[in-house]
Amino acid sequence: MKNQEQQWIELDGSTGEGGGQILRTALALSMCTGQPFVLRNIRARRAKPGLMRQHLTCVLAAQEVCDAQVQGAELNASTLHFEPGAVQAGDYRFSVGSAGSCTLVLQTVWPALMQAAAPSTVLLSGGTHNPMAPPAHFLQRSYMPLLARLGAHCTLTLRRMGFYPAGGGEVEVTIAPAGALQPFDLLARGERQEAYAECLAPALPRNVAHRELEAVGQAMGWAQEQLRQPVVRANEGPGNALMLTLAHEHVTEVFTEFGSKGISAEEVATRVVQQARHYLASTAALGPYLADQWALPLALAVRHSGQAAAYTCTELTPHAHSNMGVIQQFLPLRFDTQAAEGGWLVRCLPGA
Ligand code: AMP
Repeated sequence: MKNQEQQWIELDGSTGEGGGQILRTALALSMCTGQPFVLRNIRARRAKPGLMRQHLTCVLAAQEVCDAQVQGAELNASTLHFEPGAVQAGDYRFSVGSAGSCTLVLQTVWPALMQAAAPSTVLLSGGTHNPMAPPAHFLQRSYMPLLARLGAHCTLTLRRMGFYPAGGGEVEVTIAPAGALQPFDLLARGERQEAYAECLAPALPRNVAHRELEAVGQAMGWAQEQLRQPVVRANEGPGNALMLTLAHEHVTEVFTEFGSKGISAEEVATRVVQQARHYLASTAALGPYLADQWALPLALAVRHSGQAAAYTCTELTPHAHSNMGVIQQFLPLRFDTQAAEGGWLVRCLPGA
């Protein structure tokens, strides 16, 4: 192993939400900080524990980006030793090789590449719209504009959608060097600017999308022009993602539900409407998914600047708590969370 002096960070994958998030956040921060880690009991709380193909792809992608020394990069492995080298900007291609989420691979390598000295491009293939992962549209509309406000500029082009089980989607991302990240408070979402629903249902009968959108329109009281059926290519499917986009002055949220056999179009609509209503019932800035994903880039900015920053969110999921726990093990900072009107106030404070 290369790095004899650095103290190894010990992580237990069975704590907190006990899934892949602990692994991805650890990989991302190990690359960003140069600290090695050992993760035991990987995904111990999942039905199929250990490294699955999509997690292994994250490990191998991280290894390639920073020339890491790795032990345990094998399917089903329950322990991983990861010792990072120097992060290299460049042109990368990562393939999940199944319908596994390629956006989760991006989540792993993104923080390190945005801190590199030169620009990178990352071509990812696999699933672009998966349950339990950030859909490509969420990254484009919700996450990337917030990264840009920190000073990290990226573009994401969705070349081809990929859904479970066929996969085969493709996303191209360019990542500019961010320089010094500057944190900011995100306490309010601001005035509503736009709200619309879209149904992406390649290779399904047109009336499925139509029914989902009609049901959303009725439940939300939305007009026809807010109900959109973008052109999709049949060979991108079969798939069925129903997305509600709520754009506010300071933040855009994208809520997604997936149709599948045995779930009616109306039920898919009801579920996504529930997510949107839950968000709209609060005045907090971030919904539950952004709340967990925002912790990491914000923490990097807090560390760089030495300035505290805060955000409000409707909910703090086990994912968010796990993420904050891992971040605190890598970075000299602390998250303070307290219940606030309509949800939570999260403060990220420099100093351990
Ligand atoms: P895990 O379940 O540990 O593999 O992590 C899932 C990750 O995907 C977390 O960062 C979630 O915030 C994110 N995620 C799951 N579902 C969505 C969604 N519908 N929209 C945005 N992000 C999501």
